[in-house]
Amino acid sequence: MEETEEVMSAVDEVLEAYRDMFGTKSDRANETHKAACAEIASLRGFVKELFELADWPDGGDIDGFDFQDTAVKFGVLETEQRTEPCGESCNCAEYYSDDEWQDGITCYRIAAALTKEKIS
Ligand SMILES: [Zn+2]
Repeated sequence: MEETEEVMSAVDEVLEAYRDMFGTKSDRANETHKAACAEIASLRGFVKELFELADWPDGGDIDGFDFQDTAVKFGVLETEQRTEPCGESCNCAEYYSDDEWQDGITCYRIAAALTKEKIS
């Protein structure tokens, strides 16, 4: 993902500047910071693409499958191949017919990071 790499190289520069100013940061702080920046880059990419799909400001409808594909592309939705429902509370449990289950389905779930109440 080109844009993520761009943002990440900017993150590396910021971390380098911190090191120069405050001394060496811990690896954990570096990793946490990088992960947070990568997540922001993904969400930014997702939002930008939704604006394009919606043809904003001229206006248009976003196709549900385009939305889903874009969400997968940017990690907002995560996929898993299944031959049986993940559990009663999962979307896939009600969505697919018996025939579809025999061939195997793709379960789409909102990324765990987005369903967390607080950042730990
Ligand atoms: Zn599922």
